Amino acid sequence: MPHRPERTTTDDPQLSLPLQQAPAPLAEAPHARESGRLRGVLLGGQMCQFRLRRARRRTIGFQIDDHGLTVSAPRWVSLRAIEEAIVEKERWIRNKLAQWQDWRIRKTPKAQRFVDGAQLAYLGQELTLRLGAADERTAALRSGLHPAQELHLAMPPGADEAEVRLAVQTWYVKQAILILGERVQWLATRGGLRPFSWKLSSARTQWGSCNEDRRIRLNWRLLFFPIPVIDYVVAHELAHLAELNHGPRFWREVERLMPDFQAARSRIKDEELAALPL
Ligand SMILES: [Zn+2]
Repeated sequence: MPHRPERTTTDDPQLSLPLQQAPAPLAEAPHARESGRLRGVLLGGQMCQFRLRRARRRTIGFQIDDHGLTVSAPRWVSLRAIEEAIVEKERWIRNKLAQWQDWRIRKTPKAQRFVDGAQLAYLGQELTLRLGAADERTAALRSGLHPAQELHLAMPPGADEAEVRLAVQTWYVKQAILILGERVQWLATRGGLRPFSWKLSSARTQWGSCNEDRRIRLNWRLLFFPIPVIDYVVAHELAHLAELNHGPRFWREVERLMPDFQAARSRIKDEELAALPL
C-alpha cells in the first residue's frame, strides 16, 4: 500500500508547436548540444530546476517524479520557448512538485535513538528501552517486555547504538511471529477460512501481500502500530484468499472479517513504511 504520488506526465495539446514553425537548425545547435543538462527557470519568484531532454517528438512534454521536473522537447524548439511553456504550466508544475516534496518528507526516517531510556513505538504505545550490564545474569533473564512497558535488553548501558538497534530489531521480529501469528489465527478461525500459510516479510514497500498459492506475507514492522491496525492489514490479506483484487466483493470480505476496519484503514494509509525507525 505505497502512497507515493504517481509519476505524472503531460502532453498538453495547447503546447503543441506546429512543425512549420521550426526555426533553422543552425540557431538551435548550442541548445541541442546541451540537452539532458540541468537548467533553471524562474517560477513564481523561485528558481525551479529542470532537466531538459531533446527528443524526437512534436510537442513539449513534462514529467514530474522523484527526480523533479523533466522537460522533453523537439530539437528545434528554442530554450526560450521551452521556458515560456514551463511558465505557462506553472500552477500544475508547482502542485506536482509540492506533492513529491511532501512524500519525500513523509518517507524520511524519523530520528530514533537506541540508548538506555530511549522511547520506541510498540503496538501503538511507548516502550522504554532499558539496557542492563551484559554480565548480569538477572538482566539476561529479564529480557523481554515488562508490564511497565519497558524493554530490557541484556547489553551494557554504553553499548554501541548499532548493536542495540540490531538487538531491538531481533526482538521485534520475534514478537512479530507471536503477535501476528495470534492475529492471523484469531481472524482466520473467526472467518472460517480454508488453510493457507503465512510468514514474515521485511519489505520496505508493503505491509502485506497474498498470492494465488494462498501464501500470505506480513511485515514485522506492523508491530509499531495498535492491534486494530494490525488486524486490518491481516484481514486485508486474508480477504485476498477469496478475492485477488480490490473490487467490491473483496471489500465485503474485509468487512466480514473485520466489521469496523475503516478507522484502522485510514490510520495506516498515512503511514510510510520507509519512515519507520527500524
Ligand atoms: Zn490488497
